Amino acid sequence: MEALNTNHEQREDGKPQFAIEHGSLPKLGSEDVLVRLTVTGVCGTDIALASGELGPTCRILGHEGVGRAVQLGSGLTESHVKLGQRVGVAWQRDICGTCAMCLSDGGETRCLQQLQSGRKVDGTFAEYTVVPFRYLTVLPEGPEDQLIAPILCGGVTIYKALKICGATAGQWVVISGAGGGVGALGIQYSKAMGFRTIAIDAGKEKEQYCYDLGAEVYIDVTTTKDVSAIVRKKTGSLGATAVLVTAGSGRAYQDSLTMLGPFGTLVCIGIPPPTQLVNFHPLQFIDMGIRIIGSAVGTRLDILEAVSFLQRGLVTPVVQMTTLEDLSEVGRQISEGKVSNANSQTGDVLTQNRQLASLLFDFVKTGFAPPVSEAVFSK
Ligand code: ZN
Repeated sequence: MEALNTNHEQREDGKPQFAIEHGSLPKLGSEDVLVRLTVTGVCGTDIALASGELGPTCRILGHEGVGRAVQLGSGLTESHVKLGQRVGVAWQRDICGTCAMCLSDGGETRCLQQLQSGRKVDGTFAEYTVVPFRYLTVLPEGPEDQLIAPILCGGVTIYKALKICGATAGQWVVISGAGGGVGALGIQYSKAMGFRTIAIDAGKEKEQYCYDLGAEVYIDVTTTKDVSAIVRKKTGSLGATAVLVTAGSGRAYQDSLTMLGPFGTLVCIGIPPPTQLVNFHPLQFIDMGIRIIGSAVGTRLDILEAVSFLQRGLVTPVVQMTTLEDLSEVGRQISEGKVSNANSQTGDVLTQNRQLASLLFDFVKTGFAPPVSEAVFSK
């Protein structure tokens, strides 16, 4: 049986280029599960990986796949996992379970030996992929596959950050970079978790978008001189209980320190370029008791918790569907920063139920909705 893969090659101009290839089914170990994917998200990280910025990769990228178990390794039976079971295939594909991180409480997302989708094992831009049973993310029925895909990376990342940010219901949480893909999901999760949300981003056009998602306050950094002063004013001079920085900007991190209230927490999520450092004086920490923590994706339990918000209708990702054939164009638009919220719309293609290996962007905001070419998938 043939399987469809989307491989990438690095071009000389550094722009990601993807090409569809037909190959054989991936090999299944005795404790592995073969998953036939129905959708997969496109993350900015995939484009960075395809561009070669992040070092060596596998040929098949992608880490927001949703599909169903279609074949079990020889050591597994349906008492382990039922054929047809819906599963998620995320960034973290396996962990060692024995390193210092894995042995630490909540440390598995930082496993020193972890296998990452597209980096150490083939990713989800493919019709089929293989997942070790011991690290299988079993998904409940309910929300459509294309709505769950973005939760497997951006969604669980921001949910986990909110979960550990130290705020309780009714307290103020700032999301810096709130109009981006991760930030926008963050506004929805923050509201659903009972926090009062201050959204910070650049540009007037993000304002209504952030309010529609549930922000109580929007601050436009392009027209506001002293963002911290506005945060203090809106929070009754206290400052925020937590600031989550999703923007990959050293400036955003620098500004966030002065927005925090007593014992506030800065949660690092966005990754600035290596040259953008943050300065602080120890007195800020001594006087205010503030802390800085980082958050990296989430565990399989975090994913299930994040998905439960979709099941309850409290969080609804905005997604657009496209096909594998258009991955190069999608990548070009992401890398050139042309993907913007302004184009956001839901396509009727979302209601199609015969999409095989279609793509959606997690940070999606453009209106890709080409028809799925069935012929490509015939076996
Ligand atoms: Zn480990």
